[in-house]
Amino acid sequence: MGGGILFVVSAPSGGGKTTILKKVMAELPGLVFSVSCTTRAPRPGERDGRDYHFISREAFAEIRSRHPSGFLEWAEVHGNLYGTGREQVERLLGAGKDVVLDIDVQGAMQVRKTSAPVLIFIAPPSPAELEARLRKRGTESGSAIGLRLENARREMQFMDQYDYLIINDRLTDAVDCLRAIVVAERCRRRRSLSGLPVRTEF
Ligand code: ADP
Ligand code: 5GP
Repeated sequence: MGGGILFVVSAPSGGGKTTILKKVMAELPGLVFSVSCTTRAPRPGERDGRDYHFISREAFAEIRSRHPSGFLEWAEVHGNLYGTGREQVERLLGAGKDVVLDIDVQGAMQVRKTSAPVLIFIAPPSPAELEARLRKRGTESGSAIGLRLENARREMQFMDQYDYLIINDRLTDAVDCLRAIVVAERCRRRRSLSGLPVRTEF
């Protein structure tokens, strides 16, 4: 697809993806976040164009109809539609950027069919801890939390399809793991920490 590496990160909602990704992306240059489209309403503090492109169901359907150029993948998650714009991902990878997709398990399985992503699964240490974190985050109603917990059980079954598993128990350990995976994958592709190809005299 291009020069950069495509990282796909999935976790049950509340698993800690956003928290871990923000920390690692602040530390590692050359890693960019692919901003998805969603029909879900913005949460307090979320900004259009930075966290998501918040669009209507009609606009989503229009992009989806431009198959295969519209979405690289899309899925319905917790009753809302989410999709990754193909053009932006291809442009970033082509420019040599390493791109991070924060997408659900259905989307990850679609991307695996057409690209060669590095698949990373982040799991909470237990269902009880996941529920506690969702309640503490306070961004969903009781019924929305129930739906996310129910979906979590299904999503956890996809864990074996991923290249890497990070158990997000202690946050600093989980951040260390994700950073290590990105650095190792860059070495595998003979890339330097800056994301640029390594120069050698040989
Ligand atoms: P996701 O993006 O996967 O839905 P978040 O990053 O929003 O999850 O994390 C869910 C909640 O759990 C947030 O309030 C976050 O601060 C908290 N959290 C994340 N990781 C940990 C951790 N290792 N220990 C305790 N709380 C955590
Ligand atoms: P949230 O609404 O909590 O931000 O995200 C809910 C779920 O949707 C998460 O599992 C997140 O990874 C997933 N998600 C976000 N963007 C996309 C996307 O573009 N495609 C797919 N398939 N899932 C997405």
